[in-house]
Amino acid sequence: MSAEILDKIKKLRAELHEYNHEYYMLDSSSISDYDFDLKLSELIRLEGLYPEYRDENSPSQRVGGGITRHFPVETHEFRMYSLDNSYNYEDLENWEKRIIKSIEEPVEFVAELKYDGASISILYEKGKLKKAVTRGDGIRGDEITQNVRTIADIPLRLKGNYPDYFFMRGEIYLSRDRFEKINRQREEEGLEPFMNPRNTASGSLKMQDSSEVRKRGLSAVLYQFMAKEFPASTHWELLKKARSFGFKVSENHAKLCRTLEEVKRFIKYWEKERFALPFDIDGIVLKVNAIDQQLRLGYTAKSPRWAMAYKFKAEKAETQLKKVSFQVGRTGAVTPVANLMPVLLAGTRVKRASLHNEDVIKKLDLHEGDFVYVEKGGEIIPKIVGVNTEKRMRSATPVNFIKRCPKCGEILVKIEDQAIYFCPNERYCPPQVVGKMIHYVSRKALNIENLGAETIEQLYKEGLIKTIADLYDLKKENLLPLERMAEKSAQNIIEGIERSKQIPFERVLYGLGIKHVGETVAKKIVHHFSTMEAIKKASLEEFIQVGDVGEKIAKSMVDFFGMEENILLVDRLKKAGVSLEKSAGGLEKVSDVLKGKTFLFTGVLTLFSRDQAEEMVENHGGKNLSAVSKNLDYLVVGNKAGSKLQKARELGTVKILNEKEFLSLLD
Ligand code: AMP
Ligand code: ZN
Repeated sequence: MSAEILDKIKKLRAELHEYNHEYYMLDSSSISDYDFDLKLSELIRLEGLYPEYRDENSPSQRVGGGITRHFPVETHEFRMYSLDNSYNYEDLENWEKRIIKSIEEPVEFVAELKYDGASISILYEKGKLKKAVTRGDGIRGDEITQNVRTIADIPLRLKGNYPDYFFMRGEIYLSRDRFEKINRQREEEGLEPFMNPRNTASGSLKMQDSSEVRKRGLSAVLYQFMAKEFPASTHWELLKKARSFGFKVSENHAKLCRTLEEVKRFIKYWEKERFALPFDIDGIVLKVNAIDQQLRLGYTAKSPRWAMAYKFKAEKAETQLKKVSFQVGRTGAVTPVANLMPVLLAGTRVKRASLHNEDVIKKLDLHEGDFVYVEKGGEIIPKIVGVNTEKRMRSATPVNFIKRCPKCGEILVKIEDQAIYFCPNERYCPPQVVGKMIHYVSRKALNIENLGAETIEQLYKEGLIKTIADLYDLKKENLLPLERMAEKSAQNIIEGIERSKQIPFERVLYGLGIKHVGETVAKKIVHHFSTMEAIKKASLEEFIQVGDVGEKIAKSMVDFFGMEENILLVDRLKKAGVSLEKSAGGLEKVSDVLKGKTFLFTGVLTLFSRDQAEEMVENHGGKNLSAVSKNLDYLVVGNKAGSKLQKARELGTVKILNEKEFLSLLD
């Protein structure tokens, strides 16, 4: 019996590894996402049932979920050096001269992109990912294996004829797309946006919950093989080898150059083309191709003599500030934007730059009419990096953050320990009202097709809608008189609104645009409470019982439903027929064996992720709590459990289980 199970597990793992390889490395797929997910959940299920067969390199480990409290410090077996920088061709020519003088033979180079992310060194032992460590100070770094495992570009198991023990180095980065997506979501949830993809990537690697890391959607590229002995005689061959082991090694973005002239052409090409890449680079890296030459050249105290970075000039331009305007978002957050005299920068005409918040304005000491330097570096939106104070008029006055909302005149409020100002007039401030409605009809919420931002604005201006509930009173006759509104589009809008009544409750809750309540949180809340009636009545403490819901979210929920107009709003939605209850099919219970029992998980779970664990509890009729209290029946402990375990012991009423014991409760 168990041999059969083991075979099945092994077969699933092998298949999933292969599909992963196809998908992430070869950009193709011979299986549908749906079938892939089925296989993956089957594997997770079997591994949960038979923990004795668990394997840290199983494809299931990509799902993440372990909590690492702090990252152990690891000493690098091979020091991770910095790179020397060069800024012009002359620097490069001098470098080549030094090399030739030292080794007394001709030299070839490999030119690669200088990825702007966080470098990582990954140990592979017998073809399995063993350990991943950040560069740190080059001598010692943080061990972040658990987090790195969640990055799809990094193979957990190798293929082909790999050496038994070696390190692969590379860069972990965030694509611009992902970066913007994360920021859009943060803004929706009323959080401050991140500054640039690089910091976000390295910050993400240090998050404590690896399932959160996975959600960030990091990418990776590998560019350096490191070991005592090399399975090839040149860097170029090593890259090819690494590719054959299943590593994502850049192919189109690297070139073997026989002369410095070829190197220069490569640099010229990427100096322009870099803006078309989906990720940021800040230069080019050149490496001597022959390994024996590399060994002869060796290292200085700080960097290899056989490698050199060529740094692009950050594109910078000077222009005049016309004025600072202030935008009001859906959550009421007010963002300053610099309107500039148009200037050409990195091939595009720039006339606006982000100022993020009040602190940025203060740091720059920005004055009206200042001449400013704008730069397009890592960030997508150009930013102001400095002021040319010599050109400042003596009479110029400092730019002040506004005191009142530019759209409705309300006095702005500043949230404690954030640099952000909000307009508190949620109900009547036009951009907030319209923004909320646009959010409500958006794809991830009620997905009302044909009803775009412009139409919403138009309907609002005409006085046809003031809240989302008004949408459901709209009739075709109301729409037809509008400018540019054809019979057909009016019909489509009305049908789209009608169809939105079928959208599941969790997306409706998300669509209400409650501060800090994103898609995932909305799902969890619906999962927990099932009905709008229950949510309306829930207390702060009850919200905190929901996994992932902290005090901030709980307070936001209570505040929202504490306002009479919101209660009236959801009542109107209910009357209109919008789904405000968890759909029956959504949550099938597997059994009732845990009925009336409460659970809490702590420490690093190894057999399943925290999400999976909590789902199991609910599927079997139990309830998840978020803190140790006398209401808690079971505390399930993984590795390195800390204060919760201690507290449970002190209480004496909580039963303490390990993961296996928990699973056996389900049988
Ligand atoms: P620096 O931090 O300026 O000393 O530059 C060294 C860093 O460049 C390394 O730690 C890597 O993180 C990064 N890097 C980016 N792309 C490459 C590449 N293709 N080869 C080597 N290092 C790279
Ligand atoms: Zn306002």
